[in-house]
Amino acid sequence: MSTLFLRTLREDPADAELPSHKLMVRGGYVRRTAPGVYSWLPLGKVVLDNLSQVVREEMNAIGGQELLLPALVPREYYEASNRWTEYGDTAFRLNDRKGAEYMLGPTHEEVFADLVKGMYSSYKDFPAILYQIQEKFRDEARPRAGVLRGREFHMKDSYSFDIDDEGLEVAYTKHRDAYIRIFDRLGLRYVIVSAMSGAMGGSASEEFLAETPNGEDTFVRSTGSDFAANVEAVRVPAPAARPLDGLPAAEVHHTPDTPTIDSLVDYLNDHEVGGGRTFTAGDTLKNVLVKVQEPGEKDWRILGVGVPGDREVDMTRLEAALHPAEIALLEDEDFAANPFLTKGYVGPNALLGNELEFYADPRIVEGTRWVTGADKVDHHIVDLVAGRDFVPTGVLDVADVRDGDPSPDGTGTLYTARGIEVGHVFQLGRKYADAAQLDALGPDGKPRRITMGSYGLGVSRVLAAVIEQSHDDRGIIWPRVIAPADVHIVGTGKGEQVEAALRLGEQLEERGVRVLVDDRNGVSPGVKFTDSELLGVPTILIVGKGWANGLVELRDRVSGEREELSPESAVERITALVR
Ligand code: ATP
Ligand code: MG
Repeated sequence: MSTLFLRTLREDPADAELPSHKLMVRGGYVRRTAPGVYSWLPLGKVVLDNLSQVVREEMNAIGGQELLLPALVPREYYEASNRWTEYGDTAFRLNDRKGAEYMLGPTHEEVFADLVKGMYSSYKDFPAILYQIQEKFRDEARPRAGVLRGREFHMKDSYSFDIDDEGLEVAYTKHRDAYIRIFDRLGLRYVIVSAMSGAMGGSASEEFLAETPNGEDTFVRSTGSDFAANVEAVRVPAPAARPLDGLPAAEVHHTPDTPTIDSLVDYLNDHEVGGGRTFTAGDTLKNVLVKVQEPGEKDWRILGVGVPGDREVDMTRLEAALHPAEIALLEDEDFAANPFLTKGYVGPNALLGNELEFYADPRIVEGTRWVTGADKVDHHIVDLVAGRDFVPTGVLDVADVRDGDPSPDGTGTLYTARGIEVGHVFQLGRKYADAAQLDALGPDGKPRRITMGSYGLGVSRVLAAVIEQSHDDRGIIWPRVIAPADVHIVGTGKGEQVEAALRLGEQLEERGVRVLVDDRNGVSPGVKFTDSELLGVPTILIVGKGWANGLVELRDRVSGEREELSPESAVERITALVR
């Protein structure tokens, strides 16, 4: 440490809110170069390499082959898949001296597909799993929390290439298992959630979320089973349809001064509408209007979404369901242009009767009766029956998901939790193979379109996620597999102990133990102890006061346990620990 390029900080950096960000900067692992752009200092580089090595081992174990592709990718690669346009502001773009355009790769499906196309041509060449560990570039709208959401970051990205869907299934499962092994080796607490896949046209897609209250992703899990899903991916089970026979006819009521669902429900109950039955918010039908613009289209179209009145439309779920279309709320001029829409009193038939779409929450099944707007100011309609008085265009499952809702798998109820997406496994299918016209000749001599998977793992983000889960108020607590060293040897005092610390370090290194020795002169024991706790090496060996009596002290950074013992026993103990 006397020569290490390191300066630890006592104060938290002003721009840091999350523990991982504070500790990585204070511990001298990284330093900010620009917003969302970080330099990795010597200790940080060691940790990054250690993690990359774990990832590499598990990728190689499933038959992955490591490549290294350029970050600088010519426009035409992303053009074929339309992502040159789709990436929008997220892409870093640049020109060469001749004016040719490039993107700094945010992910590399296109380039990998092109490589395979250039080299493989027969079904005998497949399956293949190719990967790289490389810097990625995304001009994130909100870079956040140091390396957690960077604009330049490290990703392991792999791609599988198969001749048929069964092959893709196998490659997907292999990756999923490899990710489980990687995150288990790090001791990370994580959940695997099913993610939305509709947009990219694939089938299965799952995300690995590291559990932490500081995560940006909200997901739900069940109290009764291991069900977990992204909120966007929760599918509410539809109740069975009910008979239409014998239901009362729909009836319009004058309901003055009922601007909110609650005031409407009170009015209905106070005036004994419907023969004195008791209404609740869940008996009302709330119709939310939005306008939607499909990609590449100029026009917006209006559509309505009906949800039970005790729920809201969750805009994130709606956006995910309608992706890649743009969504906006209606403005006054939209109402003016469509006078059949009575703001605040829109019923399903105002839309359906004017050739607009009206989608219903899955709970709005045939035979359910609703109180909703009567398309007339101050009027509501009671007993509007789904399947009898209106037939929705389709189902949109976009109401908010709440704590206590039944779990879609039928066991337990849902509650929300937060996490950080550390990995993503994705059955892409043929989208990129289509763009690249990636085919191989099958055994019958006929060309077959290759099917692909893509699998990302945020190497630099994982480090931050590990720290979010494993730190205390004094510093980082690294899992040994990726720690910058196995043991941090602190020599206190002037000469003798520091010399002894260096000698012990040499002995341990000879036994294959990775060591960091604090041999700084003129630094107080207190500062050295504080630094050792901040840096987070899992085992600390102190050559200090006890040295005169032939004793050193072993501290466990995880449990906090301390023990005095002879230097020889300490060497034995540490060696055994590491092995
Ligand atoms: P997010 O939703 O967090 O923006 P994403 O879904 O866009 O991530 P992917 O395209 O799936 O990310 O990338 C694969 C992995 O790369 C992610 O699972 C995550 O671990 C990591 N990653 C993505 N964006 C960043 C970033 N800006 N900084 C650090 N790691 C990132
Ligand atoms: Mg993702």
